[in-house]
Amino acid sequence: MNVNTKDKKFNSKVIHSGHGADETTGAVMPPIHLSSTFKQNSPGDFTYEYARTGNPTRDILEKLLVELEDGKFAYAFSSGMAAISALSDALGKNYSIICSDDVYGGTRRIFDKIKTVNQDVEVTYADLSKENNWQGHLKENTKMIWVETPSNPLLKIIDIKKIRESLKDDNIIIVCDNTFASPYNQQPINNGADVVIHSSTKYLGGHSDIIGGALIINDNKILADKIKYIQNAVGAVPSPFDCYLLIRSIKTLAVRMERHNNNALEIANYLLKHPKINNVFYPGLENNPSYEIAKKQMTGFGGILSIELMGDINSAKKFLETIQIFTLAESLGGVESLIEHPAIMTHASIDKKIRDELGISDTLIRLSIGIEDISDLKKSLDDALKNI
Ligand SMILES: *Cc1c(COP(=O)(O)O)cnc(C)c1O
Repeated sequence: MNVNTKDKKFNSKVIHSGHGADETTGAVMPPIHLSSTFKQNSPGDFTYEYARTGNPTRDILEKLLVELEDGKFAYAFSSGMAAISALSDALGKNYSIICSDDVYGGTRRIFDKIKTVNQDVEVTYADLSKENNWQGHLKENTKMIWVETPSNPLLKIIDIKKIRESLKDDNIIIVCDNTFASPYNQQPINNGADVVIHSSTKYLGGHSDIIGGALIINDNKILADKIKYIQNAVGAVPSPFDCYLLIRSIKTLAVRMERHNNNALEIANYLLKHPKINNVFYPGLENNPSYEIAKKQMTGFGGILSIELMGDINSAKKFLETIQIFTLAESLGGVESLIEHPAIMTHASIDKKIRDELGISDTLIRLSIGIEDISDLKKSLDDALKNI
């Protein structure tokens, strides 16, 4: 029994979309269906067949994701990378991708080291936060424009609607990695994207206790069918328990994001004035080059920001070794604040030369602002900055 939530606001969808009370027991929260196989009434007559192909717990998660992103189809995967891989496999081989240059390190790795080698895919990286910068890179066999916005780690914003409006070829899909924004802050399909990808490890999961991914697709049924086929055939699917955890986590997505947004904006403004900070990268700052697009495209500026410290790599290390509350760790989007050094950690797989071109310097630090009390976060930043 599904509650019809299509006409509901986001804050209600996160709680009610995908399921109502359980039909057999009245359970208010959905059960976890662990069964790997399902009884058939007669050969070939079944609702569910085998749990890799589909199962009731994953169905709830996928229905929920469809509504949150305003798409038509959603497929859950065992990681964000598995989702990215499935999408690029669905496009076949021997094609070109135009990809925003400031992307998650793992996205570059799978494109450059796996898809390029095995499927003759050609990837061109460009700063897509600059208007129309993709057009010069268009090739005869371009099949996908890959946009990660806000970008990683420099939080540049790409105008999805502008790309949609000037893209003449309907055969090229626009894909948005919406991991950093979460559907609370940004709904790419409503801005013209064909596909949204998520690492649900981050904000959707929100508690740093799950690895997961998802693809949400607009009304492109041909593409959706290919993805569904790959999801089953390759089998990089999340367990029913992981699906349940995500359904549970998403119920608080709206309240978590509201606090993430508020805390991050306040910290960005605070650090902007700090004498030990060279630069703050956050789309919610009025002096940020992406501010106007962010204001138009997003309903909140998100919980991630990057800063450039005064000093050198040793100052950065000292800061990261001594800071309290913030845990020095990769990943982002959890309730707890995390801090990391892109050049040594998340973006180490990118060649130093490219990192320099992108502006990922040795004193650049990325913060994932959690939902702790703002005064404690400020104090711990301030204390650690005194040490450098
Ligand atoms: C983490 C992340 C990924 C990869 O997702 P996994 O769940 O770690 O496989 C992809 N894109 C972005 C923006 C990410 O932050």
